[in-house]
Amino acid sequence: MNKTSYISRHVADLKPSGIRRFFDLAAQMEDVISLGVGEPDFVTPWNFIEQSFHALEQGYTSYTENAGMLELREEISNYLHNSFQLSYDPNDQVIVTVGASQAIDLALRTVVEPGDEVIVVEPGFVAYVPTVSLAGGTPVTIQTKPENEFKLKPEQIEEAITPRTKAIMLCNPNNPTGTFLSRQELEQLAEVIKKHDLLVLSDEIYAELTYDEAYTSFAAIPDMKERTILISGFSKAFAMTGWRLGYASGPSEIISAMVKIHQYTMMCAPTMAQHAALEAMKNGKPSVQEMIESYKQRRNFIVSSLNEMGLECPNPGGAFYAFPSIKATGLSSAEFAEQLLQEEQVAVVPGEVFGESGEGYIRCSYATSLKQLDEAMDRMKRFVEKRI
Ligand code: PMP
Repeated sequence: MNKTSYISRHVADLKPSGIRRFFDLAAQMEDVISLGVGEPDFVTPWNFIEQSFHALEQGYTSYTENAGMLELREEISNYLHNSFQLSYDPNDQVIVTVGASQAIDLALRTVVEPGDEVIVVEPGFVAYVPTVSLAGGTPVTIQTKPENEFKLKPEQIEEAITPRTKAIMLCNPNNPTGTFLSRQELEQLAEVIKKHDLLVLSDEIYAELTYDEAYTSFAAIPDMKERTILISGFSKAFAMTGWRLGYASGPSEIISAMVKIHQYTMMCAPTMAQHAALEAMKNGKPSVQEMIESYKQRRNFIVSSLNEMGLECPNPGGAFYAFPSIKATGLSSAEFAEQLLQEEQVAVVPGEVFGESGEGYIRCSYATSLKQLDEAMDRMKRFVEKRI
């Protein structure tokens, strides 16, 4: 076809997600154990599902308010208060979105002007760089270092800042490394952020999934609430990936501007999912607690298995990912993942897809049963033994 493409330049330039490629490969094979997917193996707790049924039975099938049902925003506000000591006005400081994914996209499109730089920390969630670009901004990446347990250091922010820097995206606990930042570490980052007057997009979707220390929201650090858009959702801790429900909270000026885009591009998040989320916020704690206990057991198992087979792996403080080094095998992360899938039918994600500093590592999701994990570790051990 000798015709100019209809696809816009900035979309044509986007790379397809490196994670998807592995899912597609694995889907064509039999007897694959997937440690690739970043989603809970648990089915959504029954009481959340039931509330959604009830809402449908009662005829709640139309749009809700653009920002989400007020009752849900009130419950989110209560939840943030009870869990993280944060106060947000449900009227204009909370928006319910289609997953945390839409909250990230909306937040970026709301604040980024062409030419603005947004700092993205790598290894990091694969959506950050493309969504910054799609919003018209320029992503500037910081590579965290294995010798710092992939923790972001304040001096790294200093080095990345230019007169065009507008915002920084933080993710705690981190996907893919599982790295957890303590209150004290966040306070050190906050100092630099305040000094340079940056806006923070704080992705806290794994906040509940922490195993050793109490969680501090970035917005709870002194002077940070007014410059932070807190992004979270129901997919991970509440096992609700398919419901597509998330939220953002922050200064009313920003949240109102996000609602303005949302009302034209999305109208509202799915009504039946909002009813399930309402139950999750009101009565979800026991189920979430049970899942956390299970993830913790699995984390302990996978981390010790990886270290025993010679893949060095520090204990991740949160999320449901282990991020072991595969350097001892002499393979690149893509070679390791491809050969492991072909030879032993275990799917993991090569670290390189999460950014430059992810090379030499693989991401193993432990959101799968202990039985499956056990089998996956046996297979991986056999694979590694041939190479170390
Ligand atoms: N942020 C991070 C760090 C994630 O890992 C994910 C999901 N993989 C998301 C956001 C998006 O989640 P949601 O399903 O709520 O859109």
